[in-house]
Amino acid sequence: MEPIYVKCNKSCGHKFYVQHFKKDKLYQTIEKTYFTCPHCGREYVCFYTDGNTRNLQTELREVHREMKWIEKDELDRLKKKESTLKQLISNSMSSVRKLIEG
Ligand SMILES: [Zn+2]
Repeated sequence: MEPIYVKCNKSCGHKFYVQHFKKDKLYQTIEKTYFTCPHCGREYVCFYTDGNTRNLQTELREVHREMKWIEKDELDRLKKKESTLKQLISNSMSSVRKLIEG
């Protein structure tokens, strides 16, 4: 994964690269993906997933793998599937986030 450059904009203002995201299991199948500021320890949540979100992410990875060798006329079908999956993943993440953050 490409490191991302972020600023600790909720706390100390420190700028740093994030190379690895941390994962915590919350409850049931829910996981939180996040990073923390190395300077002040402030936590930044990237997203929440549950079992359903991760199944969709797996499906999306399959689609991306398939796209590498598929015939051109099949590509449109996969692109549609890809955008549907992305939408479902984003819906799923925001509903888990609502559940957690109330
Ligand atoms: Zn900080």
